[in-house]
Amino acid sequence: MDNKPTTAEEFARLANNFYMANGQASDYNRIISDSHLINYILTEKSKLKKYKVAFLWICLNPQYWEYAKDMMEGARKFFLPGHQTDFFLWSDMPPENNYGATVFPTEPVEWPLPTLMRYSLFLQQEEKLKEYDYLFYCDVDMKFVGIVGDEILGEGLTAAQHPMYAIRKEFIAPTEPNPKSTAYMDLPKYYFAGGFQGGKTADFIKAMKVMKKNIDVDFTKNYMARWNDESHWNKYLHDNPPYIVLSPSYIYPDSLIKEYYEKLWGCSYVPKLVTLTKKFSTSAEGGAAVTKMINTL
Ligand code: UDP
Repeated sequence: MDNKPTTAEEFARLANNFYMANGQASDYNRIISDSHLINYILTEKSKLKKYKVAFLWICLNPQYWEYAKDMMEGARKFFLPGHQTDFFLWSDMPPENNYGATVFPTEPVEWPLPTLMRYSLFLQQEEKLKEYDYLFYCDVDMKFVGIVGDEILGEGLTAAQHPMYAIRKEFIAPTEPNPKSTAYMDLPKYYFAGGFQGGKTADFIKAMKVMKKNIDVDFTKNYMARWNDESHWNKYLHDNPPYIVLSPSYIYPDSLIKEYYEKLWGCSYVPKLVTLTKKFSTSAEGGAAVTKMINTL
């Protein structure tokens, strides 16, 4: 194939032929945009570097199993297309339900241990994980709905802003308030969600080691931080700011009431990774509290 950029006129002619032959609308504005895109692709393609990425996830206890299939299908389609991604799953699901991931069989434990023990579980595979350029963790009860691409790859850690606290200064981030916890901290500039996190392998392994140690220290005091692993992630990022701060597009609640959030955000975020409402964790009281909050605005 001749990789030389085409002229706009040549491109318009070919694109029109293509759309007409396929019975699609031959829209002039789309063709102009396509012509910029094709030239961009032709000039950038040779510069692309393909990274080895490990996608880490946990699925313990039967009520979480139902999320696994959609999570894997969505991740295979939308997560870092064009890179080499391997999936590592810590789970107690029957082996036929592993959806092609490499599984580390894990005993089920009660909430909040499945989430709080994540760094401890991942670090058991440290040597394997070191073979990768990047590591990313994602909650199983989330759904990929758009491309999560090269924008998440930086020179350090990648963290996603929690949608609830990315809106107004008056919405005070729920950081750990107890000085006895290693996660105790001042109010941060950003409050990050624990559901999607990662970064360059060396940086994420370093972060996981510190967080695991801090969680263990809290355990010796018989204490668990307010928001479990999320509190420790925020404390770590407070001391070691992330290289990439992602918008709430990457932690976009499925229960989001657009009329409410978009007014407060002052913009709309395009959902890429959506957090799913769990049947077993919603309550009538929770729904009533949200309604009250909206009505008092
Ligand atoms: N998790 C699990 N089994 C459990 C509880 C949690 O596998 O019994 C894992 C699962 O990957 C889940 C993550 O821990 O997505 C975080 O837990 P959860 O989503 O319940 O926390 P939330 O985001 O609702 O605070």
